[in-house]
Amino acid sequence: MQFDYTPEQIQLRKTVREFAEAEILPHVLEWDEEQIFPLDAIKKAGKLGLLGAIFPEELGGSGLGYIEYAIIIEELARVDPSVGLIVAAHNSLCTNHIFLAGNKEQHQKYIPKLASGDWIGCWGLTEPESGSDAGGMRTKAVKQGQCWVLDGSKTFITNAQYANVCVTIAMTDRAASHHGASAFILESGVPGFRAGKKENKLGMRASATGELVFSNCRVPESQLLGKQGEGFVDSLRILDGGRISIAALAVGTAEGAYEAALKYSKQRKQFGRPISEFQSIQNKLADMATEIDAARLLTYRAGWMKDRGQRVTKESAMAKLFASEIAVRATNEAVQIHGGYGFIKDYPVEKFYRDVKLCTIGEGTSEIQRLVIARQLLKS
Ligand SMILES: Cc1cc2nc3c(=O)[nH]c(=O)nc-3n(C[C@H](O)[C@H](O)[C@H](O)COP(=O)(O)OP(=O)(O)OC[C@H]3O[C@@H](n4cnc5c(N)ncnc54)[C@H](O)[C@@H]3O)c2cc1C
Repeated sequence: MQFDYTPEQIQLRKTVREFAEAEILPHVLEWDEEQIFPLDAIKKAGKLGLLGAIFPEELGGSGLGYIEYAIIIEELARVDPSVGLIVAAHNSLCTNHIFLAGNKEQHQKYIPKLASGDWIGCWGLTEPESGSDAGGMRTKAVKQGQCWVLDGSKTFITNAQYANVCVTIAMTDRAASHHGASAFILESGVPGFRAGKKENKLGMRASATGELVFSNCRVPESQLLGKQGEGFVDSLRILDGGRISIAALAVGTAEGAYEAALKYSKQRKQFGRPISEFQSIQNKLADMATEIDAARLLTYRAGWMKDRGQRVTKESAMAKLFASEIAVRATNEAVQIHGGYGFIKDYPVEKFYRDVKLCTIGEGTSEIQRLVIARQLLKS
């Protein structure tokens, strides 16, 4: 067992931190307030290699592992969780589904453009009537000659309005249940496919979340991604990796809130001394730091296992569950440490507090993570 960062990981963290503080930090408030999708910053992140982090260099990726990927998401989230979410959905959901299930032509056609940030990706599984129970999706794809025809809609899709490429899952054989869904790659501009309503959200407001609508959308059979009927099963594999990025998103958000609270506690004086000298405040800081460390370790363990090709269903769900729950607690305490100022938008903790809630919901709620973990425990 080895707990040191490599020199490359230290350098990566420094590079991403500098990027986030220079290109993102000055705009965080405005992007949140106005719900501005930070397209320029995302394109710059693409030039830095952050949009193709986990893909091989021969496909235009950065050839990094999941620990490095977690470091990237953490550092983006430490400054703006919305940017972390945009990059996570792009990398570990959309592009990774193409990477894991795609054929050579699909790899060559899509991954280099997604990895460079020329194209933005989104991934649509959730529907208005099927969230946790994603297998109950209604969107269907019917084979007609050499084409597939898609009808239905997806909801709450990250990057929906800005995506050039969308991976979506549709029922191709309802009778076959979980082996009756298939994945498809759709490009923006295809007739019958459009992004619908953009949601007005509590947090993560700079990330675009919205509907995807398929109406008699006809695509050639070459757009089928992976084996017919295996789209849902492949999605579960994609989520195993994706949950590591949501755990990292939670860790980074908690870290940003913790650092702000630590700094504030040393500056703010009440009763003639810094509030950091009060034991109640020290207890909060100690709990936050301890839980963030534990969450980070769970996240890196899942990443380490993933990089070794091991199955991480249980470990990524544990990391996601624990990190998102402690991050909600940490941001709550960060607001508390700020007192009334924590309720005001001039201080970053107000936004961390709103943003972080998504981490207990996206890519499977905490209740579903417990269900996934328990299933794995009961199997053994
Ligand atoms: C900002 C944002 C971004 C998102 N991005 C994407 C994306 O890019 N792609 C995508 O496909 N989806 C995305 N989602 C959707 C997200 O994954 C779903 O919201 C989530 O899986 C929960 O589904 P639901 O909202 O339908 O809630 P429901 O499934 O209706 O759940 C409601 C409540 O019931 C609980 N519940 C449900 N079933 C059970 C059970 N069996 N046992 C115990 N409790 C249960 C849930 O935990 C929850 O508390 C995003 C959501 C948000 C808010």
